[in-house]
Amino acid sequence: MTLEPVLSRIDENLPQALDRLLELLRIPSISTDPEYSGDCQTAADWLVADLQSIGIDTEKRQTPGHPMVVGHVDGDGPHVLFYGHYDVQPVDPLDLWDRDPFDPAIEKTDGKKVIRGRGASDDKGQLMTFVEACRAWKSVHGTLPCKITFFFEGEEESGSPSLVPFMQENAAELSSDIALICDTGLFGETTPAIVTMLRGLLGEDFTITGPDRDLHSGMYGGIAMNPIRVLTGILAGLHDDTGRITLPGFYDGVPELPDEVLAQWQGLNFDHAAFLGEVGLKHPAGEQDRMPIEMIWSRPTCDVNGIWGGYTGAGFKTVLPSQASAKVSFRLVGQQDPDKIRDAFRDYVKDRLPEGFTIEYRTDKGAPASQMSIDNPMFEKARGALSDEWPNAAAYVGCGGSIPIAGYFKDILDTDAMLIGFGKDDDQIHSPNEKYDLSSFHHGIRSWARVLEALTR
Ligand SMILES: [Zn+2]
Repeated sequence: MTLEPVLSRIDENLPQALDRLLELLRIPSISTDPEYSGDCQTAADWLVADLQSIGIDTEKRQTPGHPMVVGHVDGDGPHVLFYGHYDVQPVDPLDLWDRDPFDPAIEKTDGKKVIRGRGASDDKGQLMTFVEACRAWKSVHGTLPCKITFFFEGEEESGSPSLVPFMQENAAELSSDIALICDTGLFGETTPAIVTMLRGLLGEDFTITGPDRDLHSGMYGGIAMNPIRVLTGILAGLHDDTGRITLPGFYDGVPELPDEVLAQWQGLNFDHAAFLGEVGLKHPAGEQDRMPIEMIWSRPTCDVNGIWGGYTGAGFKTVLPSQASAKVSFRLVGQQDPDKIRDAFRDYVKDRLPEGFTIEYRTDKGAPASQMSIDNPMFEKARGALSDEWPNAAAYVGCGGSIPIAGYFKDILDTDAMLIGFGKDDDQIHSPNEKYDLSSFHHGIRSWARVLEALTR
């Protein structure tokens, strides 16, 4: 089926597509606040009606939390699932918004047209890029290009409590050949990106106890070992002078980048000086023999997130505290095993505790990294299609944070997830004055038409 008339239809119907998005943005579907649960139902109803209007068999499915929206359309070729979320983040502080967050509008900012409003980018605008591509396809060809399942949730911004049980209960219905997830961004302004690596996370929150009470440093200073001295020694030893993490076995399962991905990343010309300069920093702090972009996307990390103990109030109290505490977290990549790293960390700490000291941990289980298999030929097809739409070739990128949904598709449904999104770093998602570039919306819709065409080729 030909693509060109679909792309033309998308261009012609952009004003109507925008009107529909603005309508959806007017529904204040804040998932974390029970006061808005009726609005979450309304947003789900709106999506059901909209999908039905393009001939997709769609239902609102209740969960213990906010409902899922699931739609199916039959067809030949691969079975593609599309995931997005219709819920949004809270809007406070309201006085930092230049307009009512739920009275969206097209504005001109820095010479560019943007859609301003809560959810414009995260994720209603992104979700509608796919729906609009399907609408244009249907109106030109009378059918959709392949078998498609639409899967929208309303709890992404509040931890997705119903998602895993729903996926488990409906695994047969939701299993597909590929899951497309539209909740990420472009690289820079105009380079489309497919996220293939997401780092995992392991945290350790602990307190070490030395003397059984706070001591006076005049009386005990010099003879008593200070837990803060012990703790800071432990923390300082976690990295060596070259930025490597010293825990034995820490780098087991950390893969080297395939050559083609390394070449793509080099081609991105990541400006680390500008990236760091924006937050008042100068030098990359990771492993010194790695490219700065690797430090964010493909290398594991160890960071101290909090540290406390002793007297921190006004003035001075010459105390030698009984306890000292810290929170340490690790971002994990590749096949790194969170349980093994936890054991290595605890052994390391134990070896450095003076005799008589004790330690108490308060932490949850960690999560491993997820890595998509780009051997699946659908990845190269999608990358080619995205490269055709944008001025720069699409790149496989990493993501420093975690997007657990991608892992759920793999673990629960055995389906590879492809994360493609058209957000920009300055969309101010989760913040006041959220916006979405009109051109991201437009080219996002065109991109999905191209991707669907390529996947069914
Ligand atoms: Zn999102």
